[in-house]
Amino acid sequence: MHSQSDIVAVMVGVAVEGPYSYRVPQGMSVTRGSIVAVPLGPRLTLGVVWGPPADMIAHNRLKDIARAYDLPALSAELCELVDWVSRYTLAPPGLVLRSVLRSSEALEPERPVVAYRLSGHAPSRMTDARARVLETLADGMAWAKAAIIGASGVSASVIEGLEKSGALERLSLPAPPVVDPPDPDATAPRLGAEQAAALAAIRNADAGGFGVVLLDGVTGGGKTEVFFEVVADTLRAGRQALILLPEIALTHTFLERFTRRFGTRPAEWHSEMTPLQRARMWRGVLEGTVRAVVGARSSLFLPFRELGLVVLDEEHDGAYKQSDGANYHARDMAIVRARLAGARALLSSATPSVESRNNADTGRYLHVRLENRFASAQLPDITAIDMRETPPEKGSWIAPPVAREVFAALDRGEQALLFLNRRGYAPLTLCKACGHQYQCPDCSAWMVEHRFRGVLMCHHCGHEQRRPEACGACGASESLVAVGPGIERVAEEAAARFPEARTVIVSSDMGSNAQLRQRFSEIAKGEYDLIIGTQLVSKGHHFEKLTFVGVLDADLGLAHGDPRAAEKTFQVLTQVTGRAGRATRAGKAMLQTYHPNHPVMEAMVSGDREAFYAHEIVAREAGGLPPFGRLAALIVSATEQPVAMAHAKALLAAAPLADGLRLFGPADAPIAMVRGRHRVRLLAQSPRNFDLSGYVRFWLGLAPRPSGNLRVQVDIDPMSFF
Ligand SMILES: [Zn+2]
Ligand SMILES: [Zn+2]
Repeated sequence: MHSQSDIVAVMVGVAVEGPYSYRVPQGMSVTRGSIVAVPLGPRLTLGVVWGPPADMIAHNRLKDIARAYDLPALSAELCELVDWVSRYTLAPPGLVLRSVLRSSEALEPERPVVAYRLSGHAPSRMTDARARVLETLADGMAWAKAAIIGASGVSASVIEGLEKSGALERLSLPAPPVVDPPDPDATAPRLGAEQAAALAAIRNADAGGFGVVLLDGVTGGGKTEVFFEVVADTLRAGRQALILLPEIALTHTFLERFTRRFGTRPAEWHSEMTPLQRARMWRGVLEGTVRAVVGARSSLFLPFRELGLVVLDEEHDGAYKQSDGANYHARDMAIVRARLAGARALLSSATPSVESRNNADTGRYLHVRLENRFASAQLPDITAIDMRETPPEKGSWIAPPVAREVFAALDRGEQALLFLNRRGYAPLTLCKACGHQYQCPDCSAWMVEHRFRGVLMCHHCGHEQRRPEACGACGASESLVAVGPGIERVAEEAAARFPEARTVIVSSDMGSNAQLRQRFSEIAKGEYDLIIGTQLVSKGHHFEKLTFVGVLDADLGLAHGDPRAAEKTFQVLTQVTGRAGRATRAGKAMLQTYHPNHPVMEAMVSGDREAFYAHEIVAREAGGLPPFGRLAALIVSATEQPVAMAHAKALLAAAPLADGLRLFGPADAPIAMVRGRHRVRLLAQSPRNFDLSGYVRFWLGLAPRPSGNLRVQVDIDPMSFF
């Protein structure tokens, strides 16, 4: 006879709506957070004990938990986070849990390292290879098998032969730690007066529990040094620290700075790690041997057991929004996790999101500013180049004043950057004989020419074709023309205009992350004079000799029907112009624009960021847009447009009335077709104090269920409006 306590709810890591009940077999002991394997259908599935069962299903219909892993239970705050993210984003909790249980290898005990040392007996037979092994081990210490192979250049069979002959003694050593624990006192911080004051303000506000700090400081103002000290405080207090970065794969300089400050590399968590590295790291975080992690967005779901601090560097960065699977925003969820864990959250940026800035203005967050550049470096002098008055020559993209500044920088032996946030050679290819425009067969988007690789490519689905010799519509040869610039085309113009300059293109098309890191370090060493880059170049890279930045299309982000278009443009322009003159040289930047009177351009030129935020906050409040209102997008897609539209209309008809709630659409999405699926959007807008997630869940419960190839995606707090 089973008692109620022998039955528990187990959340399984699959996309189902809630936990299932299982029996706990005799002799097994589990608690909330225990990681288990349970039978689900024909196979075993990973799951986590979620608590007492929600239902009272007869015991004889329940299955037994198959296995409880010998690991600490997940912390209560992490289980609560999974439920919270699921409730908020409408993603099934099991799907969110999958972000936690990322590595099944991590659940098995770590295999010990096989090692050998000399036994003191000589082998019966001696060979050259055997002699080399004995020489390697002559220090009398135990050596890992792999290390012996590496040091003596023999095969494993030589070592095994020596073991059989009794000359070597085999040992099992515990695996070395993933990383050495960081030492908060490895080096003394060297802070300027303003940084020290910022740190003091952060420490004063620390009540030992939840709290959010916005560290708001100019590029080069020394924010990293300040938050490293908050990390050190966290480590001294015996708690774990997490630092989230938007582009972890390219931030080796950040890792080096961490190593200098804390005497050891941080544990890393990102897509370039091997499965074994991930497994060891995950386990180390859960067992508490890993004290500080530097990671990408997904490290938010690591199984910390005593989380004390979450830092989000470049908190405004769009890379923090996850847009497949669970549509969560890592910044917002990091703050939720900090609250659940009784930890601090520290958001760092030179250009905070309007949301965070408003939370600081209204006192929800502690607002700490760094207004001076460190080491007396100057902010760049920025001018707008009115493209109506001084346009580039026909067929070129670099306006005369910008070209003059590039020449001047090159003459001084310094570096210049030409920035255009558009990959490839040209955004549109058309036939001048018949007017045919090359479109992706599966998306409503133009094919972008990548001349470097000789292909036309769709930037929405990745579809590629060779650049044709003749027009595919009329057959005319040599009739295809490239329309508009991408950075490859700018590079072509630069090569003609500045033939003496050593030029490099920086974009995500230009190779692997390792190759990009190589390029960045070559640029930093001054091996190039002229850099032509996309947004990739604007992220946190310090180039000592770079003194001029020319932005070739400052208006590029403004035209979109995106409520954050002005904010995103302001952030990109601030970041890229901030590359100029970071060390002791004063920098200059020029913005090529058709809208020199736009509030973003005026704020850039006057250096008055406060004016930008003031203007933007007023506009958002007037429109009821975030952070003064909430948005949720429903994207209905199907292989046939009328099917998608009909379902979207049925959704709209089923929407319950609610005070203050407004619905927009349905309308074809700006990119109406992606990967062969037609997309129709609905947008819900509500006041800030309205449970929009709850409303959408209720709404979808009343609405007809999608069938056939129809799909309805829910995006709470959408960041993208395509
Ligand atoms: Zn043609
Ligand atoms: Zn496509």
